[in-house]
Amino acid sequence: MADAIAVLNAGSSSFKFSLFADSAQGLALVSRGQAEGLYTSPRFLAKDDAGVTLDEKSWGDGVSLGHAGALDHLVGFLRQRLAKHRLVGVGHRVVHGGPEFARPVRVDASILAALEKYVPLAPLHQPHNLAPIRELLERSPQLPQIACFDTAFHRGQPPVAQAFALPKAITERGVIRYGFHGLSYEYVAGVLPEYDPRGAAGKVVVLHLGNGSSMCAIAGGRSVASTMGFTAADGLPMGTRCGSLDPGVVLYLMDELGMDARAIEKLIYQQSGLLGVSGISSDMRTLEASSEPGAKAAIDLYIYRIGRELGSLAAALGGVDAIVFTAGIGENSRSLRERVCRDAHWLGVELDANADPRGAGRISTAASRVSAWVIPTNEELMIARHTRKVLGMQSHQEHG
Ligand code: ADP
Repeated sequence: MADAIAVLNAGSSSFKFSLFADSAQGLALVSRGQAEGLYTSPRFLAKDDAGVTLDEKSWGDGVSLGHAGALDHLVGFLRQRLAKHRLVGVGHRVVHGGPEFARPVRVDASILAALEKYVPLAPLHQPHNLAPIRELLERSPQLPQIACFDTAFHRGQPPVAQAFALPKAITERGVIRYGFHGLSYEYVAGVLPEYDPRGAAGKVVVLHLGNGSSMCAIAGGRSVASTMGFTAADGLPMGTRCGSLDPGVVLYLMDELGMDARAIEKLIYQQSGLLGVSGISSDMRTLEASSEPGAKAAIDLYIYRIGRELGSLAAALGGVDAIVFTAGIGENSRSLRERVCRDAHWLGVELDANADPRGAGRISTAASRVSAWVIPTNEELMIARHTRKVLGMQSHQEHG
């Protein structure tokens, strides 16, 4: 019977899952899907690796299924699908590993308690990431669960890249720059040598441009700086997040506009970014299709800020050999990539205007001093690989 690994990425009202079969040839996707609208209008959809629907269910408007109910449905689906497989572990995407967790870890009750300490550092994500772990620990305590952190890849950054210029007593409370999207960056850094061995061995900036957007400077495969900081609200503007903000603005919002912490949280996480600037949508496809001036202003600001951050990360690296676009916008928006590359001409990026990689490939000319690439990210596969590795090390220790 073949082994299988499930991957869960749980959010506030939805979760995504993937199922991989593990064999001597490696990990192969068996199924992926999501449960959405868990508290308003729950829907479950699972497809196979070719995109053919395997299971679909809607519970109707006004139904609150919750995470536990959706997990029930997923477990039932997996049981049915897993007739020929043995589930050996579940890998979870967990946004915050704090200063403590620099690599994936098997979760037991004490690790779960340690991870709960980081809820205040990521209040909109961490509680939802941990909820299914707690639930599964109660239901199936023997089933290994591995937490994989968005922060872990960045924990090796030089101290100066992690520090805020704040008093030591505050820094020591863990108020430092953590950086996020680490699983995506780790995956891209892992496959880059197949595309560009010279660049991968050198200095790279990866642009993870999706609903959440950030950029990471990578030297010799290791993160040395990133645009996200203490929280995932820092750095680039995003779908609904503002990105870097003068802290004086927060004081102004409190003193002059009478906003409290919750109102400011809503503003900076849910009402800003592409949505706030455009007044139209957080979705890049909608903005690119719009002729409204607000849509243009939002895209212009996004691209301007990407260019500024590129300069900053290039300085942190002391030069750049390659840049890589990934995630929803980075992988799909040719026009945005072209504008970013044209703006980066000063850095040595020479766009190949004819390049149109469907999927993955090079978008710079052969003569370009800095090579530019599109590489689809695969955070789920990265989590499955980590899960397999932690389990393998464990059985090795048990047998050894
Ligand atoms: P998340 O951070 O939620 O994982 P994604 O990586 O899926 O986000 O990225 C979602 C973003 O990608 C949205 O803004 C969406 O409009 C954009 N996107 C997806 N396809 C295209 C496309 N063909 N052209 C432009 N933008 C696209």
